[in-house]
Amino acid sequence: MTTDMNPNKFNEHAIIALDDIQLGTALRRGTGNADGRRREVMGEVETKALRQQGRGAKLRALADLPDLLEKMERNVIKNGGHVLWATDAAEANQHVLDICGKHNLKRGVKSKSMATEEIGLLPVLEANGIRMIETDLGEYIVQINESHPSHIVMPVMHMTKEQVRDLFVEKLDMPLTDEAKEMTAFARKLLREEFLNADFGMSGGNFMIAETGTVAIVTNEGNGRLSTGLPPVHIAVVGIEKIVPTWEDFATLVQLLPRSATGHRMTTYVNTFSGPARPEEPDGPEEFYLILVDNGRTNIYGTEYTEALACIRCGACLNACPVYQHVGGHTYGSVYSGPIGAIITPLLQGKENAEPLPFASSLCGACKQACPVDINIPDMLLKLRRDLEDEQEPIWKIGLKSWGFGNSHPLLYEVGGKVASLATRAISQTMGEDKLNKLPYPLSGWTDYRDFPSFADQSFHAWWRHNRSS
Ligand code: SF4
Repeated sequence: MTTDMNPNKFNEHAIIALDDIQLGTALRRGTGNADGRRREVMGEVETKALRQQGRGAKLRALADLPDLLEKMERNVIKNGGHVLWATDAAEANQHVLDICGKHNLKRGVKSKSMATEEIGLLPVLEANGIRMIETDLGEYIVQINESHPSHIVMPVMHMTKEQVRDLFVEKLDMPLTDEAKEMTAFARKLLREEFLNADFGMSGGNFMIAETGTVAIVTNEGNGRLSTGLPPVHIAVVGIEKIVPTWEDFATLVQLLPRSATGHRMTTYVNTFSGPARPEEPDGPEEFYLILVDNGRTNIYGTEYTEALACIRCGACLNACPVYQHVGGHTYGSVYSGPIGAIITPLLQGKENAEPLPFASSLCGACKQACPVDINIPDMLLKLRRDLEDEQEPIWKIGLKSWGFGNSHPLLYEVGGKVASLATRAISQTMGEDKLNKLPYPLSGWTDYRDFPSFADQSFHAWWRHNRSS
């Protein structure tokens, strides 16, 4: 398993992942269970209507994005909260540090948030002497293991129960047990102390509801409520694409998200915050800050990739993807993995920084089928491949253009096939072999992991002419 966050090393990471037996076991279990449950629930009649409504809600929100964000800002301020805008990760992190400085915050608890993973918040806090504890069990395990989440929804998809047990025994002195319930109870007890001693809490946001300036998070462990309601300061870091106009749209999407993510009709906890606690409320934070993160999203907005911003981060496309199922999330070298990660990582980080990702797909279409908001992932992967090809070295362009030209001209195709057939036979005879399994350099990379198929004695065109042409 690798923790190297470099998407350009996808191929090297994949080779390591494919040899990792424990990873293979964990991925088979994790993706198999989640995908199986999702299929059952998403097959229900009412879910089909939900999908259409959910897609409509997200596309409407995207069409109106700038106005909705301004409305959100106005309403959060009206509710007594503060709104800060961050164009990139550095600015978002600086906002958090400034808030910590202003309120003298030294010890925080955080519920699960991909946005804070994306901006790399935890190392920045640590470098500034601020202690932050992840309170989602999966994220907590990742933090103890000094690793990264490998899945949008299930951060420790890459680990078996036995590996978690060993980690807890080694790092937390947990008494030996194989019972998942006991391991959870052990972690829960430790986390309870952290909640009680925290001077600030952090969260992401699954949705933002513009009409009332509300941030919503969905969790299954209840840690979100404690992280955001107990400490005196709450900071929410949310990507700008999470906005929806109304509670009605939120009601649709909040039904769709757990169905796609874990195969449950409803998540255990849905928490919504519309600012700090009001004077008449007995508890809740005294201060509420919303940091709206762009970090490359406006570069996607208005392009042919805009639809990628409709993603509700359910992880269904990861579970359904045959590539993800075999190599896992760390292989992508990015916070966002799987099919949607293969699109948004190059778009957010620059295509040149994630070149192999759009090619890490068989284009089987399972991701599009699984996506609750029907994002055309294969189409966008193809478009990214086209963009990358346009930026390729002239030699590759010439090669691919010649290949395309040859394949679209029947005579050239047939002559080329005959020449290639004769050439491969001649090469194999020179090498003293019956048939050519591996291609020589510079084409050898293609046959490193697959055999070169032999040419048939007779081409299909020749067979057709002989048998069917009269
Ligand atoms: S692209 Fe679709 S399936 Fe994949 S995480 Fe986003 S919403 Fe879920």
